[in-house]
Amino acid sequence: MPSKNEGVMVILSSPSGAGKTTLVNLLSKQDKFEVSISHTTRQPRVNETQNKDYYFVDLDKFNRLIKDQEFLEYAKVYNNYYGTTRTPVIDKLNKGKNVLFDIDWQGADQIKNKKLDYKLITFFILPPSKEILFKRLSNREMKDKLIVEERMKQFGRDVLHWINYDYVVINDNLDNCYKKIYNLIDAEIKNGSKDYDLEYIRNHVEKLTS
Ligand code: 5GP
Repeated sequence: MPSKNEGVMVILSSPSGAGKTTLVNLLSKQDKFEVSISHTTRQPRVNETQNKDYYFVDLDKFNRLIKDQEFLEYAKVYNNYYGTTRTPVIDKLNKGKNVLFDIDWQGADQIKNKKLDYKLITFFILPPSKEILFKRLSNREMKDKLIVEERMKQFGRDVLHWINYDYVVINDNLDNCYKKIYNLIDAEIKNGSKDYDLEYIRNHVEKLTS
């Protein structure tokens, strides 16, 4: 990545099960990239660590952060609240770090509308097919068929937001998908040419929603 004084903001959103969190973790291993840690009112999962995966807080604390206008964005997702506090993000950007956001479309819209003085690149990650998404969700939520059905329904609604993103990338193979995202970020920063086929994506979305 080029040396520029200020970092860029990179948002990755996706419907549940498209593999976004893994991609964010891979990108965060790159020099100059740091993940923005969100606050959430959701309960931690067994494999999650406080202050690393999220700042897990109760609703009172979350409401106080809203009242004190600490959030750059916040939203309700699946009955829990999630939000990104402003100060750590701005600090990282001013130190020249590229900040990765693993946030949903509502948060992406809010950050976009803020029109901050930092470059913003937004990605929407999609699964290769509905069948593969169903398999991925079934593996993850093995105990609960109802959750899988609900997430599949939610997928149909979430996917419609693809149009508001700079780039849509299909996660058919983790390594390829990661490289595509990395190359697009690099091209954006360097003002280079971008390898991106919008028509192909439009057709893919049509297949996913038909
Ligand atoms: P999970 O509970 O599975 O970690 O995340 C559920 C959803 O909330 C994911 O789509 C994730 O991207 C989104 N999310 C996580 N943190 C934030 C945040 O700070 N703001 C917003 N708007 N969404 C978030």
